[in-house]
Amino acid sequence: MTEAVPNAASAAVSVSLRIIPREQHTISRKNISAGALRVLYRLNEAGFSAFLVGGAVRDLLLGGRPKDFDVATNATPEDVKRLFRNCRLIGRRFRLAHVVFGNEIVEVATFRGSSDDGSGDRHVVDGRIVRDNVYGTIEEDAVRRDFTVNALYYDIADFSVRDYVGGYEDLQRRELRLIGDPVQRYREDPVRMLRAVRLAAKLDFRIADDARAPFDELGELLLQAPPARLFDESLKMFMAGSGLKSFRALDASGLLADVYPLTARALAIRSGGTFRAMIEQGMANTDARVVEGKPVTPAFLFAILLWGPVRAQVEKEIARGTDMNLAWIRIGHLVMNEQSKHVAIPRRFAIVIQEIWSLQPRFEQTQKKRVFRLLAHPRFRAAYDFLLLRAGEGTEIAAIGERWTRAQGASHDELAAQLNTAAVPVAVAPVAADESGAVATAPKKRPRRRRKRTAATPTSAE
Ligand code: ATP
Ligand code: MG
Repeated sequence: MTEAVPNAASAAVSVSLRIIPREQHTISRKNISAGALRVLYRLNEAGFSAFLVGGAVRDLLLGGRPKDFDVATNATPEDVKRLFRNCRLIGRRFRLAHVVFGNEIVEVATFRGSSDDGSGDRHVVDGRIVRDNVYGTIEEDAVRRDFTVNALYYDIADFSVRDYVGGYEDLQRRELRLIGDPVQRYREDPVRMLRAVRLAAKLDFRIADDARAPFDELGELLLQAPPARLFDESLKMFMAGSGLKSFRALDASGLLADVYPLTARALAIRSGGTFRAMIEQGMANTDARVVEGKPVTPAFLFAILLWGPVRAQVEKEIARGTDMNLAWIRIGHLVMNEQSKHVAIPRRFAIVIQEIWSLQPRFEQTQKKRVFRLLAHPRFRAAYDFLLLRAGEGTEIAAIGERWTRAQGASHDELAAQLNTAAVPVAVAPVAADESGAVATAPKKRPRRRRKRTAATPTSAE
């Protein structure tokens, strides 16, 4: 999804081809998806050259299982379209072909050039390439890629791996090295800094010294990076099974402040340790779910990442005399809006995030009516999971969490009886929402109205 940005600076990079023959590397066709193989073979049979390229080759060589397979070829997108019925042409900046097999999409890109001889369609603004449609040779295609280990080509014609920039050796040394001059490559596309951190964390690679050195000086260029790309990269960092490692690496790199400035600031204050522990626990839980193949929602993770700033600001707002409910909603909007300048968090997630936050103070309520109402809330489960993650904030929060946990075991009648006498909730499972006659029968008045309004208000975010 992340759009690769070609590179003018690397045009100066000298290339020398090394061919690693089939018997000297570990890529086996049985680990390549059926769709990708079909695309490669058909292109090849039609007389075009066809290579598997990028992350897939890298991950296959490392013994991993790539999620998606990218193909590079000298066939134009129109050629590809003619060869495959199941083909869509996409992309504004650079035309790509998507060949669709059931739920697999194989991305086929024509070799991208790096020389601007006026024959193509290239636009450079302040050193950044904003549009590019120049086709080129495989050598040019290799040098416009970001890291050497991302520029390896698996040739379907003889099953060899072709290396133009020393990527094979770097892969064996487990090092991320930029192709060309790091400063220039980062200036062209600052997101490459984030990719360095993410890939190093995911692959357990080190970032070459000269690739890390510019972070301090150039990191702030990320403040201006397209929010949609930063959202894509965020998902890849935090939702792909190595979230904890990515978060730690991002924090240690100093780049966290350029993508999640509010988070970085909240980590730096006195209560930052508790906040950091909460983020790390949330990341670890998410990683475990990803590994087990369970569903995960980005909303929950973003709610965690921004919790520190929200909590601190809500406290101030309430101290200033703002009504509690209003303070939660107002600060929720504020923080989301601020973060959205950097990372384009889609609205459907923003709504859930703000709900998770604004439900937090409601866990402190002990009135029977309110307890049942909270249990019936469609976001109860997410908000409750979030509450448990907050246990480190203090014994009081931890105790509240435990009360709601114990409660999940109790029957509806037990809970109702306890709430009539006790001052603390010992709630039933949220499943009871269905039989929530309890929720409906309790109040004769209509406070529900007000609740609807508060629940709906976050939609006006942004
Ligand atoms: P992942 O396994 O996380 O998908 P990836 O390396 O495959 O990692 P993609 O975003 O899928 O990352 O990109 C595919 C390939 O496109 C990369 O391997 C690299 O060759 C090239 N590429 C991607 N982004 C850039 C960029 N910003 N600048 C230059 N080349 C890029
Ligand atoms: Mg990829």
